[in-house]
Amino acid sequence: MLELKENYWKKIPYFSNIEKNQWEDWKWQIRNRLVSIEDILKIFNPEKDLIKAFQRTTQIYHFGTTPYYLSLIKEFSYKDPIFKQIFPHLDEIDEEKQKFAYEDPFLEDGFLSPVQGLTHRYPDRVLFRATNFCSVYCRHCMRKRMFLEEERARTKEEYDQMFDYIRQNKNIKEVLISGGDPLTLPNKKIEYILKNLQEIEHIDIIRIGSRELVVNPYRFFDEDLLNLFEKYDKVWLITHFNHPNEITNITKKAVRNILQTGTPVLNQTVLMKDINDDKYIIETLMRDLLKVKIKPYYLFYCDPVKGSIHFRTDIKKGIAIIEHLRGRVSGLATPIYAVDLENGLGKVPVFPNYILEEGENYIIFRNYEGKIIKQRK
Ligand SMILES: *Cc1c(COP(=O)(O)O)cnc(C)c1O
Ligand code: SF4
Repeated sequence: MLELKENYWKKIPYFSNIEKNQWEDWKWQIRNRLVSIEDILKIFNPEKDLIKAFQRTTQIYHFGTTPYYLSLIKEFSYKDPIFKQIFPHLDEIDEEKQKFAYEDPFLEDGFLSPVQGLTHRYPDRVLFRATNFCSVYCRHCMRKRMFLEEERARTKEEYDQMFDYIRQNKNIKEVLISGGDPLTLPNKKIEYILKNLQEIEHIDIIRIGSRELVVNPYRFFDEDLLNLFEKYDKVWLITHFNHPNEITNITKKAVRNILQTGTPVLNQTVLMKDINDDKYIIETLMRDLLKVKIKPYYLFYCDPVKGSIHFRTDIKKGIAIIEHLRGRVSGLATPIYAVDLENGLGKVPVFPNYILEEGENYIIFRNYEGKIIKQRK
């Protein structure tokens, strides 16, 4: 966890004149996103090959970061876990590295989509993509295909068609609002979505998937948004922290604000090569999440998405990490390790194996220390 000091952003010369009331305004953070190589050059002087990687990669996949998220970088190089999540890399467009990847491996826009913007994979819940805009474009995004489109929120008419489908399908109990990042939308639009969904009687849960808590925590100092969370009480928030360097004293205050509205906060992490594929980094991340009262929900095996698959690690690495956590760290801190199957076949949890043998009247277990224990059935 990072303790950010008073006026911490002023250590970056380009931001030295920015006042507290600007920096801490979520809209200022979005308006002042860095989106081009010219913007990057205001911050630091990259080596030639970094500039080349940036220019070539962004001809296909755009770049963007909030000043806040950028300020968490400790070293301007791919060794830094935050830099690596936002700075374009030639691997993204390397045909050999991307050859087993797909634009839409889970068929979100394919036959699982009854109405544009909706994906209906499981009987009782539906994915609702509200916008394709994000305030930070993560290099590892699982919807990297949307980087190829023009940035825009869906129109009211599109939302209305999505609501109609949900109203007509009484099996649907839960709506996952995702994007892009839905919390980059103006409050008015968010209220339009929440109001319509909350009013549908068979909807029990409105799950908002957003990275704003990670990349723009000032979003949750906006009283109007907090009032919406309070008013629409079906809302849950799922966020996306990948590294302990992303958790700060400001995150903690922001989570406190969210929890005060009665909204639970959970986290999904993606396991990524040279960012967090290390048991001690994941252990610290999970412990720090609990410290700020976020419950770790999923740890995902990196998806086979074109432009992102180069972050994939060995599947066994994730199992070894879960095995490391179990018994050593609070059960609350242990997420479910899962793989999303290609062709939209759903998420599969993957666990270490703790049952070694089963006989007619006994079971042989292995405990977290590796001890072998035989017990009667
Ligand atoms: C991941 C996902 C869900 C939610 O799955 P949970 O296991 O409930 O978190 C729902 N719909 C789609 C299409 C998904 O990809
Ligand atoms: S915030 Fe989410 S949707 Fe947006 S780029 Fe990052 S991972 Fe993708």
